[in-house]
Amino acid sequence: EVRVRFAPSPTGALHIGGVRTALYNYLFARKHGGKFLLRIEDTDQNRYVPGAEDYIKDSLDWIGINPDESPWNPGDCGPYRQSERKSMYREYAEYLLEKGHAYYAFDTSEELEAMRQRLTAARVVSPQYNSITRTQMKNSLTLPADEVKSRLESGEPYVIRIKIPRKEEVRLNDMVRGWVMVHSNSLDDKVLMKSDGMPTYHLANIVDDHLMGITHVIRGEEWLPSAPLHVLLYRYLGWEDSMPEFAHLPLLLKPDGNGKLSKRDAEKHGFPIFPLSWKDPNSGEWVAGFKEAGYLPDAFLNFLAFLGWNPGDQRELFSVEALVDAFSIDRIGKSGTKFDINKAKWYNEQYLRKKSDKELAAYLLEDLQKENLSVSAEKAEKIAAVMKERATFPSDLWSEGRFMLLAPEEFDGQVVAKKWNQEAITVLSAYSKNLQEAEAPLTAESAKALLESSAEAEGIKLGKVMQAVRLAVTGVGAGPDLMQIFEILGKEELIKRIEFALN
Ligand code: GLU
Repeated sequence: EVRVRFAPSPTGALHIGGVRTALYNYLFARKHGGKFLLRIEDTDQNRYVPGAEDYIKDSLDWIGINPDESPWNPGDCGPYRQSERKSMYREYAEYLLEKGHAYYAFDTSEELEAMRQRLTAARVVSPQYNSITRTQMKNSLTLPADEVKSRLESGEPYVIRIKIPRKEEVRLNDMVRGWVMVHSNSLDDKVLMKSDGMPTYHLANIVDDHLMGITHVIRGEEWLPSAPLHVLLYRYLGWEDSMPEFAHLPLLLKPDGNGKLSKRDAEKHGFPIFPLSWKDPNSGEWVAGFKEAGYLPDAFLNFLAFLGWNPGDQRELFSVEALVDAFSIDRIGKSGTKFDINKAKWYNEQYLRKKSDKELAAYLLEDLQKENLSVSAEKAEKIAAVMKERATFPSDLWSEGRFMLLAPEEFDGQVVAKKWNQEAITVLSAYSKNLQEAEAPLTAESAKALLESSAEAEGIKLGKVMQAVRLAVTGVGAGPDLMQIFEILGKEELIKRIEFALN
């Protein structure tokens, strides 16, 4: 059975890259009839941010990808929070010690810093605790056995490090990237167990993936450098045969493709890169969310799916079910994906247009309520129907359609300068008069017929004055179908507006 997991660390708001990782895991699990787990990786207590867990949960809830097992609906492999699994990791670290694949290290932070400075002075590019430098440090490989014993017994703080072998090639066959090979000399002896008795990410991640029966690890490319270390850990723990397959997802790039997408890009260009708005309780920093910016969850999900994957043909609009059907890891690209907010907007427009007038009217009515304006449900639906082709976000129905309810108080100066002339005034005056005698209720068709006949009777081509007519009624030179607007406004309001413009 396929079992995949999303394993975020609750260190702040979940970045869009994290949501994409969750989505790909979800799609893969559904596609293969497997399970999608959520595990909270909170072993680094210093980086823990209160509220971040809820943020993760709320974000996944919002787009409707709910884990089959998680801290909130545990399955048989709990607990699903690493801090609550603390006691489970020790035995694996001890097993590695026993097998000679790990060792105790007693170096203080000053000693570690001194080592780094020594190496930097000797122009070593990346100073590491490794097969060479470990020989000069204080650990169970260099100290006499009885000294190690007495240090441990006296309660001296220590960490447990993995003993990376010298001169070995570590390989893994990544589902996205193919064979990846790393020479062990470039790896360092990573800490597996910290002095506070907490495992590090590396140990906890491998132990948990094993104990939770994870078959495929689908995660961001930033974890690729750690993967060789993880392969070694599986090997040393005797789990190589059941090692999960890896798929490292391409990076999300800045809009111009130069480097990794960052929070700063979002601020600079004024677009969100987090699913939900959130204020970090520690830093007080505020991030903007897609949800609050007016993105619809299904549009956001569809956009997200295409940040690194494509179906191999021209189709772009996919429901989540269709994505499950079409998804496959071989169609995930190796190279980074440029983040394009216009694409997100495009998706939103497509999904907004798919909504019924009634659903859209509900958004409009909500916005109207905030302004203490009221309108019948029927009229709200009509406005929504006319406005939706021009809206990107639900809030545009009102912000772009204010003229539907509020008569213009001023007129776009540029359009006035270009289009307001005697011919326009003549047609509008005639139209206003004819409207007084017209039958109510006005329809788009009757409004149009009357406007045409009014212009014709004056010997003026309607096309020449059309923009001025729009200006008179809406205050601006462009917008949705004008005759629909006339129908919604109704005869009395239309006459009132024309008269106001004429005076
Ligand atoms: N806790 C890691 C993160 O925050 C998970 C990496 C992994 O999936 O192995 O991204």
